[in-house]
Amino acid sequence: MAIATINPATGETLKTFEPLNDAEIAAKLDLANQAFEQYRKTSFSQRSLWLQKAAEILDQEKTDFAKVMTLEMGKPYKAAISEVEKCAAVCRYYAENAADFLADVAVKTDASHSFVSYQPLGVILAVMPWNFPFWQVFRFAAPALMAGNVGLLKHASNVPQSALAIAEIIQRAGFPEGVFQTLLIGAAKVADIIADDRVKAATLTGSEPAGASLAATAGKHIKKTVLELGGSDPFIVLASADVETAVATATAARMLNNGQSCIAAKRFIVEEAIADQFEKLLLDKFQALKVGDPMQPDTDLGPLATPDILQDLDQQVQVAKNSGGKVLTGGYHISDRPGNFYPPTIITDIPLDAPIAQEEFFGPVALLFRVPDIDAAIKLANATPFGLGASAWTNNDQERDRLITEIEAGAVFINGLVKSDPRLPFGGIKRSGYGRELSIQGIQEFVNVKTVWVK
Ligand code: NDP
Repeated sequence: MAIATINPATGETLKTFEPLNDAEIAAKLDLANQAFEQYRKTSFSQRSLWLQKAAEILDQEKTDFAKVMTLEMGKPYKAAISEVEKCAAVCRYYAENAADFLADVAVKTDASHSFVSYQPLGVILAVMPWNFPFWQVFRFAAPALMAGNVGLLKHASNVPQSALAIAEIIQRAGFPEGVFQTLLIGAAKVADIIADDRVKAATLTGSEPAGASLAATAGKHIKKTVLELGGSDPFIVLASADVETAVATATAARMLNNGQSCIAAKRFIVEEAIADQFEKLLLDKFQALKVGDPMQPDTDLGPLATPDILQDLDQQVQVAKNSGGKVLTGGYHISDRPGNFYPPTIITDIPLDAPIAQEEFFGPVALLFRVPDIDAAIKLANATPFGLGASAWTNNDQERDRLITEIEAGAVFINGLVKSDPRLPFGGIKRSGYGRELSIQGIQEFVNVKTVWVK
């Protein structure tokens, strides 16, 4: 894929970039490695000041950064503004808490003094996707830099201006040269970079094939990885739930980021007793959404990020139809205008054993399933290779406890929208990946947990 900004709302190529050549990549790796030798010696309080400054820049210039994101990948501008604000918040969170998260922990043993010390690993490669062009990167960078590591960003090829803007923010915040760099390179260059001795670990957010490929190379070179991959998350609504609130949240959960979020609710599993009511209300909500120019403040749903994403989604809908699925609304590519637009879509009646029922739909398409009871709901929720974040709705305590215990996922949200929060760990199980981002667990992924024993 060429490294370029192509407006997904118009199809127009706005700017193209020449990828780095091998000598330029080598120079950046050298710089990162040299920067680490000095940066690792800086204090938490110094790093914290720099990160707070980055938060300030993000807040002050949020409209500029939001425009870049919307232009490059089509998310509604108002959502892009919130994304920049959330990046500022995660910077402040780690600026304030990292020293406590990584403080030595004394342990009583036969030594006169023994403790656990958390030390930085060195240069960490972050391979990031286009769907949250700022958030995905700051979610990695804030803890990694506070821990004393140095970051290299290989961003998705369709968001180069976001990638460059982020590196500039970190540099303007005062971090020393080389502590965080953007590499404008294609995916084919990633394996060599992981293999390089100067790179100590890697993290990837994106698709399963990309994650598997990166982890295979890292495994060959015995390097730590964190993977945050796809999901086909369930949104379970049981008969005891507040159906109207559930429907409003279901709509927001599916349409988040034009339907292109790993934690978006994708399979709606509803108990038979309230299924007619849920279906009707959901249909009303979907049909009321405004599809259009993502720069306009009243737009609910913008275009998909690339023509490939659009084509893949349209193809999946065809397969769902051919497997017996019934389309209640949407279900076609909007072809009377330029750009990658797809309407809000609801599909019911897909046979539970159809392979398409287990796939991730990365766009505004809701799959609706009816189940007789909670047993069937949990069974269906778990009948997918993924396990990222589940949302479940009930007002019954016993049901709630079962959902929390029995759903196979990295997170279960009861009566609420699945969302990431700097204070809570974020990540998946099964084919959704491994490792955790955010919270204390996130910052402890890329450190040497060093045992110290002194007689
Ligand atoms: P990819 O996984 O292909 O892209 C994500 C990042 O990985 C990009 O920086 C990409 O670079 C890079 N990459 C791709 N292949 C490799 C590889 N073999 N080795 C190392 N890095 C690689 O996602 P797509 O954009 O193609 O989206 C496809 C699907 O992935 C979506 O439909 C969705 O299912 C899933 N996805 C999930 C996301 C999530 O948040 N979990 C985010 C984005 C996608 P480049 O852009 O240069 O190819």
